[in-house]
Parts: sequence; C-alpha cells; structure tokens
Amino acid sequence: MPQVAARMARLGTESAFEVLAKARALEAKGRRIVHLEIGEPDFETAGHIKDAASAALAENYTHYGPSGGLLPAREAIARYVARTRGIPVDAEQVVITPGAKPIIFFTILAVVGEGDEVLLPDPGFPIYESVVEYVGGKAVPLPLTQEREFRFDPDELRRRVTDRTRLIVINSPQNPTGGVLTPSDLEAVAEVAREHDLWVLSDEIYSRLLYEGEHHSVAELPGMAERTIILDGFSKTYAMTGWRLGYGVAPAALVPHLTRLQTNATSCTASFIQMAGIAALEGPQTPVDEMLVHFRGRRQMVTDRLNAMAGVHCLLPGGAFYAFPRIDVPGKTSKQVADSLLEDEGVAVLAGTAFGAQGEGFLRLSFANSLEELDEGLTRIGAGLKRLQG
Ligand code: PLP
Repeated sequence: MPQVAARMARLGTESAFEVLAKARALEAKGRRIVHLEIGEPDFETAGHIKDAASAALAENYTHYGPSGGLLPAREAIARYVARTRGIPVDAEQVVITPGAKPIIFFTILAVVGEGDEVLLPDPGFPIYESVVEYVGGKAVPLPLTQEREFRFDPDELRRRVTDRTRLIVINSPQNPTGGVLTPSDLEAVAEVAREHDLWVLSDEIYSRLLYEGEHHSVAELPGMAERTIILDGFSKTYAMTGWRLGYGVAPAALVPHLTRLQTNATSCTASFIQMAGIAALEGPQTPVDEMLVHFRGRRQMVTDRLNAMAGVHCLLPGGAFYAFPRIDVPGKTSKQVADSLLEDEGVAVLAGTAFGAQGEGFLRLSFANSLEELDEGLTRIGAGLKRLQG
C-alpha cells in the first residue's frame, strides 16, 4: 500500500473501543465477559424521543439542512443552555454536530496553530490530546490527583501557562475520574484565561449526571462567554449514544469557523435526529431523573465493594458514571492488570493510563451496567487482584 501521511502517527485513539473489540472477540469464542469498559448508559432512549424521530421522518426531515443545524433545534438548545447555565444564549451561538465529539475536533482545528500549547486534564478524555498533537500543537498535561479529589491545582495551572498557550480544556463532571470542579476552580480557570487571553473548551457532556449540588459552567463567569466553547450533547443525558447528536455553544464570531469545518467534514447533522433532540430537551425529564437514581445506587455499591478489597482505594465519584480506583499491584502496570482482568477473569475495564500518564496505578470502571453485572464484575475483579497481588 502507498504511504499514509506522516501526521497520522500523531493521531491517538480511545482505547475503550479497542478493549470493547477485544472483549467481543473473546465472546465470539464463547467466553462470558462482564462489560465495565464502555461509557454509555445501559438504558434505552425514552419513547417520546423515538416517537419524535419517527414523526420527523414521516414529515420528510430527510434532506440536507444548514451546516450549523436546523434553526428550531438551535433555538431549543439555546433555550436549554441559557436555562441550565443561567446565561444569555442566542441560537446564532449554537453548532449542532453528529455527537459531541466533533466539537472537540473542530474547536482545536479552529483555534490551535502549529506549536501552540493546550492545557488539558491528565487523566482526561484521550481525544483532546490526540487532536492537539494531530494538528501540530503541544499537549501540556495538567495533573489531577486522587489526593486533590481529581481537581487540578490552581498554582500548577498558572505555572504551566506560557506565551504559547492558546487553549485550556476542562471537563466537569469528569471522565475518567468522576471528579467535579468547584466554583473556585472555575474562577481560577477564568482568571488565567482572561489574563492571558486564552480560549476555554468546557466539556460539559456529563452536566446532568451530577450527584450533589448544581452544575456550573465557566462560561457563567465575567468575561468568559466571549472565550468559552461549551460542549454538551444528548449521548449521556438522554441515553442517545448511537443517535450521534451533540453541540457546541461558542462566541458568535467563532461559530462561522466551526460551521465551515462542519461543511467540510460532514455537511450537517441528520435532520430528523435534530428534531428528536428538540423533544429530548423540551419533553418530560423523568427518564433522566430515573436514570440518575439508578446510577446513584450503583455508584455507592461499586465504591463500597472496591474499597473493601485489599490494596484498593476509590473516591465516591461526584458525577458521570465512572469509578476510578487506585489499585496496588506490585510489579504490574495498570495496563497489565487490565489485560489480565479481561483475559483471565473475563471482566473488561480500562487502564488508568488510557487517559494519560497520571492514570498509572488506576483502573476505570463504568457503572453503566446492571447491578447484577456489576456484582459479577466486581467479584471477578476482586479475585483477579488477589491473584495478581500474590
Ligand atoms: N467528552 C467526554 C468527556 C466524553 O466522555 C465523551 C464520550 O465518551 C464525549 C465527549 C463524546 O460524546 P459523544 O458520544 O456525544 O460524541
């Protein structure tokens, strides 16, 4: 085969999909695998959302739409973000994408040049670093430690800013740690961003999966609306991962750039799916509340069970549906532990290092699975760790 472009060597990936493929291959050979690797709600999309999609199909929402999104959908998103963040949002500021992931891609393509530096969480969602490196930028990891409840150290943030810094990426509630930034953490980000004239990509995809208190966005703070791109979407909140529907809310002047990227990449998001999105935002929210009740119960059960294992320490996650325990297995990396848990015990989890170097010594378990499966998975993890600890 002819050569691929050199830049492909800089593009990373999301190992959840690789581990899932490996687990499926084992299943194809007849093994029973417990899936704690994948980050998607195990609930079905609510009926009224499916009905809205069917109705939109019947009404022939089957054509290309504007690249930035259909106006009624952008208006519904603007109303929703304004209501949930307490800030004015205009439909002009909204870009609708197939899933929220393109907002990461488009934002970084639009604002990060060759050699520009981007501060991002470590451990953190791996796509941020992957895309920054792909476009020739430099990823500067901001360590999140268990000792600090997986919140960055504001002094460290200030120390890592240079005159090449262009963008800070934050994610709260966070994947993979379940950490939640406090109002004073957001103040620190805002202060640094204003002082150095930086962009902020605020990944708020888990904003509705919060177990205590209310969600706050850095965009609420003075001077931040003009430099913040809020990323949010339907995948997690409305159990719509396979529909591919997400959005960014950006300063109006940045929107044409994000929209042009979308014109180049995908043209637009599926029209009938955008119409279903309106029903999700403006219809009954009881399915979201019910899902959260389940996640809350599982979060406690998973954390308690992990903490009862020797050499394991797990914080109660403040949001999202991931537990991120520290595991003490002398002489083994977390990747080796995760591999052994899959191959020898038949339980799929992710190594903390799938999310950055700071993830060494940790595993990520998704509790978006039934209590029965979680119970079985934890029993297998307990047995595997005991064996590996010798
Ligand atoms: N941001 C974070 C932190 C995520 O965990 C995910 C999905 O796993 C996404 C963005 C992307 O979401 P979507 O499936 O809507 O593209």
